Order: sequence, then C-alpha cells, then structure tokens
Amino acid sequence: MNNKIENFMRLDFPSKSCNESFSRAAVAAFASQLDMNIEELADIKTAVSEAVTNSIVHGYRGIKGIIHIECRIFGDSITVTVRDEGRGIEDVKRAMQPLFTTDREGERSGMGFTVMQTFMDKLSVESVYGEGTTVTMTKTIGGEADADFGEI
Ligand code: ATP
Ligand code: MG
Repeated sequence: MNNKIENFMRLDFPSKSCNESFSRAAVAAFASQLDMNIEELADIKTAVSEAVTNSIVHGYRGIKGIIHIECRIFGDSITVTVRDEGRGIEDVKRAMQPLFTTDREGERSGMGFTVMQTFMDKLSVESVYGEGTTVTMTKTIGGEADADFGEI
C-alpha cells in the first residue's frame, strides 16, 4: 500500500437533522468504491452518523452552523473527518468516556464516541472550547478482524 491520497471528497451542509441521513448515505456511496462487505459499510455509516449527530445536537445546540466532511481513500483505508465550528468540548478525554454525556433531557446515552471507536480502527477528537470540534476516523478494509477469523 502506498500513502498517496488516491481519492477524496468534501461536503459542507447546514446543521439540520435531515442532513444526518444524507451525509451518512453520501459517505457510504463514496466509501463503497473500496471493496468492502456490508458489515464494514454499516460500521462506517454508523460512525459517521454518530459524529454528525454530535455536531448537530451538541456542537450547534441552539445555533445554526455548517458541518464539514472530508473523506480520503489511501490504499485500502478510508479516513472520514467530521468538523464543526460549534461550541467545542471542554474536556475531550472525559467526553470520550463511555456513558459520559452533557445531555440533561435524558435522551442521550453518552455512547457515541464509544460506538465510533468500536466501529472504526482509529479515532481522534480535537476540540477547542468555544471554537469547534474535529473528529477523524479511519477504517482499513479487510483488515485484521477478517484475517483473524480465517475460514470459519
Ligand atoms: P449518544 O451519542 O449516546 O446519543 P452523547 O452524544 O451525549 O450521547 P457522545 O456522542 O459519546 O455521547 O458524546 C459525549 C459528549 O461529548 C456529549 O454529551 C457532548 O457533551 C460532547 N460532544 C460530543 N461531540 C461534540 C461536538 N461536536 N461539539 C460539542 N460537544 C460535543
Ligand atoms: Mg453522541
């Protein structure tokens, strides 16, 4: 595998909840040029959906803004970056812990970052409180998980 970007795409859209399913489908359509199975595609869709939902409900809570997605394909890996210029996260380490949520209405379970971490191979979260958040996730297709299970 080489490290050159072989393909990329960018999307910018307003933080409307109807754009959550649009962006998930758009990333899936781009990602499917990698020869992956349904499960791997579903993992990417779920992770994108968690990140975009976070930008809508937390980053731009009570305000409107633009969400930026960038996807890059390098060899057999795809990296998806979801960025907002919203409220930012005060303590990223704490926010990434399972079950941590700042939601007071009891609608959220605090599992979004855990889901992203589980379904993708790498997750990095950068945030500046008051300025915004960038979530970068990478998945390698046909990676170790498949090889480990071999012929079963
Ligand atoms: P769930 O995803 O299970 O519905 P949740 O969104 O609260 O619940 P996570 O997705 O793990 O859980 O996020 C944890 C916390 O991190 C959130 O409650 C919120 O405080 C903060 N957070 C996450 N993403 C952002 C973002 N883009 N901007 C601002 N805060 C964020
Ligand atoms: Mg969430």
